[in-house]
Amino acid sequence: MEEVGTGLLDRLDALQRVAASAPGGPMLIVAGPGTGKTRTLTHRIAYLCAEMDVYPEECLAITFTRRAADELRQRLDGLLGEAAEDVTVATFHSLGLTILREHAELAGLSPSFRIAEEDERIAALTAAGAADESAARRMLREGVDDELRERYVKGLRASDLVDLDDLVRLPVALLRDDPELTERYRARWPWVFVDEYQDVDPVQYELLRLLAPADGNLCAIGDPDQAIYSFRGADVSFFLRFSQDFTDARVVRLTRNYRSSAPIVAAAVQAIAPSSLVPGRRLDPARLDPEAVPIGLYTAASTADEADFVVRTIDELVGGLSHRSLDSGRIDAHAAAGSMSFADIAVLYRTDAQAAAVMEALSRAGVPAQKRSHDRLRDRAGVAAIARELRYATGLAGSLAARVRLTGQLLAERPTLDADGGLSPQDVHIAIELLTPLAVRCGDDLEKFLAEIATGAEVDALDPRAQAVTLLTLHAAKGLEFPVVFLVGCEDGLLPLRFPGASARETDVDEERRLFFVGLTRAQDRLYISHARRRVRYGAEREMVPSPFLAAIDPGLLERRGSEEPRRPRDRQLRLI
Ligand code: ATP
Ligand code: MG
Repeated sequence: MEEVGTGLLDRLDALQRVAASAPGGPMLIVAGPGTGKTRTLTHRIAYLCAEMDVYPEECLAITFTRRAADELRQRLDGLLGEAAEDVTVATFHSLGLTILREHAELAGLSPSFRIAEEDERIAALTAAGAADESAARRMLREGVDDELRERYVKGLRASDLVDLDDLVRLPVALLRDDPELTERYRARWPWVFVDEYQDVDPVQYELLRLLAPADGNLCAIGDPDQAIYSFRGADVSFFLRFSQDFTDARVVRLTRNYRSSAPIVAAAVQAIAPSSLVPGRRLDPARLDPEAVPIGLYTAASTADEADFVVRTIDELVGGLSHRSLDSGRIDAHAAAGSMSFADIAVLYRTDAQAAAVMEALSRAGVPAQKRSHDRLRDRAGVAAIARELRYATGLAGSLAARVRLTGQLLAERPTLDADGGLSPQDVHIAIELLTPLAVRCGDDLEKFLAEIATGAEVDALDPRAQAVTLLTLHAAKGLEFPVVFLVGCEDGLLPLRFPGASARETDVDEERRLFFVGLTRAQDRLYISHARRRVRYGAEREMVPSPFLAAIDPGLLERRGSEEPRRPRDRQLRLI
């Protein structure tokens, strides 16, 4: 446990200290990436508990992903020691689940209600009038009309089930109808903190408004320029109107970026400028190391070439993969001759499909890798299948993690596999890999484990200590940092992402630019941007041009890596046509 009190604030800069030690009342911390928002949040909680007579159990800290919640919990452990256990650290879903468990009957549920599995939701939709299973699946993905939804919800309730949306919606309805209960929750958690506030959606916002009165101690933290979840209903305008919603809100801006080298900060600031939602935005590099390296820019002939570039560069950074793979057949990351280890390196991309080429090249070179997206865990076929088997299988012995492995192995060996909802052994193996760490974390609590699966994202299963290169979608990379970042596929049509036939107007270019900004700002020391001249998309090989976002970056910050191949004559011909 670290020393608390003034010693604690010594680890913050002057502005961070103002935020961490401010008296109660609504507060908005508006700050760019790497400015220590999350660090300030944890220090504020520690300071309040150590210096302001706040009890840890009066604090509720909300984040968006389980992984972020775990990290917050860990940082609090470091600052508060055992007392950190009494702080409630939750995601919106786990908070909603807690409220519903405490008042199931008031919400019209029995005490043994649970979250519906995928097949149960499909069954409820089919019973409510969906034409068939595939229609039901489509509705689950794309939303359902209201009337059908009403019948579907009734069906779920009849079986004592809730779905993910219910986890926030039902507590909102419950508290809205019961001011006394609302008061009880307000008294229980008079200090509420929300990280990544730019990504709240209307229902989450309503829950916050119920939990925190307009003059309450709500501390919202975030960066409107990193709002990247509007496709899931998030609305950055809640952030922008915080001062109207909460009386006399204190607004603190942090402007020093501690994460990234000066060239990376400069490039990121230039990249976001055309779309910035923060008037007078500032981001100054705190790190002014003279040995900072320029940002690498690589033009690849193809996606295979781009993937080779990533592997070649990793080879340089960890100090010679090929030698070691020749010597021992395997790479021992701990023995890396270079200064970097695999755990320092992340490869980021816009769409999950882009990971395949990189994964393949890494695996050919024997480089261990972990790939995670921002998709929900339960949306993976293998995960849904294992969850279902675990719920209904009786007589399986051993720890939860052992049961996950055994169930998965049995599933993977089943001969009727392909007829069984199109599940492949590969799906099951990926699911085992994703679920094993989660099972370990949940101890032997099956209900908790199934609830984690129902509410969690793939990225929650990321192991930051694994000696492996991390592959992430840009959405999944939010809030994370890595010494080395490769941002691949920086091409028009991919970043900004445009679907075939979609007009430029239909693409939310501002949000896409924010995604690019999020990607650039994950890097601490080294950033490599790459784009390919040809790429297979929607079943055909296409010519690609660099992302227009690159044009905003001063070429003086970029260093071309490798030699650009001369264009083949065929390309030129295509050009002329
Ligand atoms: P993001 O917007 O990406 O979520 P953030 O603002 O939450 O970023 P943090 O993750 O809290 O930023 O901090 C970024 C990095 O800078 C971390 O490694 C953190 O430890 C470091 N850092 C923050 N403040 C300071 C400081 N005052 N002195 C030294 N290092 C700091
Ligand atoms: Mg953060």
